[in-house]
Amino acid sequence: MKLPPSARFKTRCIHAGQEPDPTTGAIIMPIYQTATYVQDELGKHKGFEYARTQNPTRSAVEANIAALEGGARGFAFASGMAAIDAVASLLAAGDHMVVTDNTYGGTFRLFERVLRRYGMEFTYVDSSDVALVAQAITPRTRMIFIETPTNPVMRLVDLRAVAQLARSRGVRLVVDNTFASPFNQRPLDLGAHLVVHSTTKYLNGHSDSVGGAVVSNDAEASEWLAFVQNAAGAILSPFDSWLVLRGTKTLAVRMTQHNQNAQVVAEYLGASAKVTRVFYPGLPSHPQHRLAVSQMHGFGGMLSFEAASFEAARQVLNGVRLFALAESLGGVESLICHPATMTHASVPADVRARLGITDSMVRLSVGIEDVQDLVDDLEQALARV
Ligand SMILES: *Cc1c(COP(=O)(O)O)cnc(C)c1O
Repeated sequence: MKLPPSARFKTRCIHAGQEPDPTTGAIIMPIYQTATYVQDELGKHKGFEYARTQNPTRSAVEANIAALEGGARGFAFASGMAAIDAVASLLAAGDHMVVTDNTYGGTFRLFERVLRRYGMEFTYVDSSDVALVAQAITPRTRMIFIETPTNPVMRLVDLRAVAQLARSRGVRLVVDNTFASPFNQRPLDLGAHLVVHSTTKYLNGHSDSVGGAVVSNDAEASEWLAFVQNAAGAILSPFDSWLVLRGTKTLAVRMTQHNQNAQVVAEYLGASAKVTRVFYPGLPSHPQHRLAVSQMHGFGGMLSFEAASFEAARQVLNGVRLFALAESLGGVESLICHPATMTHASVPADVRARLGITDSMVRLSVGIEDVQDLVDDLEQALARV
């Protein structure tokens, strides 16, 4: 069994990075739960010395995710934040980064509360306007770090335009592709240098593992990432690597269903008199719907909506039965959350207001249940409002 180089996305999901075990023929990559490897003789080993540095299960998931993003190298980390921290370590004291203003809260916290102490500088801009990104670039800028769509207001960044800008200014473009997943969006194809993921979300897909990944098409960055992954040691464990490998096998079928279900739920909410606004790039009413069509292959399972008031939002959040009230996203089960008091509680109120994260906003991670059950659940919860 050999994966042809021309293999398409769904085939890569199942086969990339995974050869049958050479000793037994086991079709599934084993969990190499080992800390070290016996060497044949002094100075002669099988390419594996110590498990922080190399682990076959981790190598397999790294090759698999790299193939899904269309990148040259993949690196798996203990969490999405560990992956982002490794990417940020490409900067040194005095270097500057331009960041999407509506970035994931944990990313903001890492940059502001940790990395600033080491002399790195960050500027946050509305990256849906590429001119604002361009204006924020200084002679010290080394990296542009963006998310698209953003959480929870689903604002998009024009990936082709920002990649062109980054390349013309000699700056690395990093895209956190967690929300879309590589099934729906492949930033490296559009010119980004690096992609990061919280594999906790769609890549693992079953809400049973925390992990992160970086995929690189930049040889110099790859060399540093391999070095720092071993030097700092925030590696993904063999068991979690195996779980993510199991998750990505079904990525294409899961995402197809996430996309379909979210579209139906978004259209249902858009037609509801109890809902004032729906944020979903798959709706023609989304202000950047045309950009979504041009750079995404599907619109994802995440959407937000505004109820008439905070009280109305509270009634929906407490009234749903099938949607689970929880943070996180990207699992097969549907979740509901209140960004202002849950995922984005640490964002100051004035910043939340500027980003459009209102108290009446509700965020859904639409799972792959029967969509009629999801609509029925929202219907009975909205009826209480
Ligand atoms: C969850 C998430 C992260 C952080 O990942 P962890 O695995 O929780 O460390 C980063 N970016 C985005 C967009 C996320 O949703």
